[in-house]
Amino acid sequence: MSSERPMGTTLQQDSAIYLDYNATTPVDPRVFAAMEPYFKDLFGNPASAGHHWGWVAENAIGKARTQVASLIGARPLEITFTGGATESNNWVIFGLLSKLREENPTAPIHFITSQIEHSSIMKAMAAVQKQGVEVDFLPVNKYGQVELETIKKAIKPHTKLMSFIWVNNEIGSINPIPEIAHIAREHQIYLHTDATQAAGKIPVNVTDMGIDLMSFSGHKIYGPKGVGALYIRGKDPKVQLNPLIYGGGQERGLRSGTVNVPAVVGFGVACEICQQNLTAETQHMTELRNFLWQQLQEAIPGVHLNGHPTERSPANLNITLPGIKTEQILPRLQKLGVSTGSACGTGAMVVSHVLRGLGLSTDEVQCSLRLSLGRWTTQEELTKAAQILKNAINK
Ligand code: PMP
Repeated sequence: MSSERPMGTTLQQDSAIYLDYNATTPVDPRVFAAMEPYFKDLFGNPASAGHHWGWVAENAIGKARTQVASLIGARPLEITFTGGATESNNWVIFGLLSKLREENPTAPIHFITSQIEHSSIMKAMAAVQKQGVEVDFLPVNKYGQVELETIKKAIKPHTKLMSFIWVNNEIGSINPIPEIAHIAREHQIYLHTDATQAAGKIPVNVTDMGIDLMSFSGHKIYGPKGVGALYIRGKDPKVQLNPLIYGGGQERGLRSGTVNVPAVVGFGVACEICQQNLTAETQHMTELRNFLWQQLQEAIPGVHLNGHPTERSPANLNITLPGIKTEQILPRLQKLGVSTGSACGTGAMVVSHVLRGLGLSTDEVQCSLRLSLGRWTTQEELTKAAQILKNAINK
């Protein structure tokens, strides 16, 4: 299943351990090998329809589109390549609003989302709110899942879009997207899901599950950064969005700009590898994650798990340390690549809205850490990671 380990995931000499795969993953060497020729000899512009260089590039994109579609159970033409999930998320919100306003400039519009979405949804929703869209940011339960009853109560006659994150990037909780899709379908509302942490990691089938729009990204699944996709349902119903980016008409006029061919090729191969190994990798990740949780509980009495105990990403743990601010111990965690619930980079404390959304106090958020595992994580590293944390706390 696994290929050669990218050097960057571990600094052999001083045994640093990367446990931040939810932030980004290294490119799988097989992905890198597939991309390389498209930086070199196969450099053509896919829009150059009159010569060999263009056709080669166009064929490569076509193959990648099939690989990406196959991972999520879509048809290739339902996939549009974007610059990543941030763009895909923005596109859904602004592109749908533009389309709806074109059809009826004065009709009221209501969108529904949750309080613990990625900032690319939160901020885009806030932006359309300023443009007159009614937006409901629904609360979540203590596990960070949006409840079906809460959704049903929020629906209005003019609700046009629901957007919910599938697997939360901070706490790993899984939303019941197929069940939500069912509700959306009953009310003829489009369902969009931000599946950036779901696609390639848990089974996803947009067709069977009744999803209308779905965002995902290359660099969370061992592909390159700066490439992603938006799935747009092509029939039953055919979803229509206006473009976010206008220009030369690439991607069937939906997303202009010369396609980043090497990145798209890499994204395609990354999806194919994930699809081939999904079951085995999910099982392996779950075992490793459970092992780490056990190690952490032994090393840190009173440690608390954020998010759902079982309905969670196989590769994510988010923990609150008992009364220990991560800021205090971070200097002693330099050999551990983890992410914290709050950051103080610019002098202003930024506290995770996701953890706050779960009901954690600001103090608890400041005591929280996310550990996320990936393709090359080993049990030995996890034992060491728990030890490093324990030592940092005990000091
Ligand atoms: N949504 C989620 C859930 C994410 O985890 C991320 C990446 N942190 C994004 C959207 C944004 O993805 P990208 O980096 O591809 O823009």
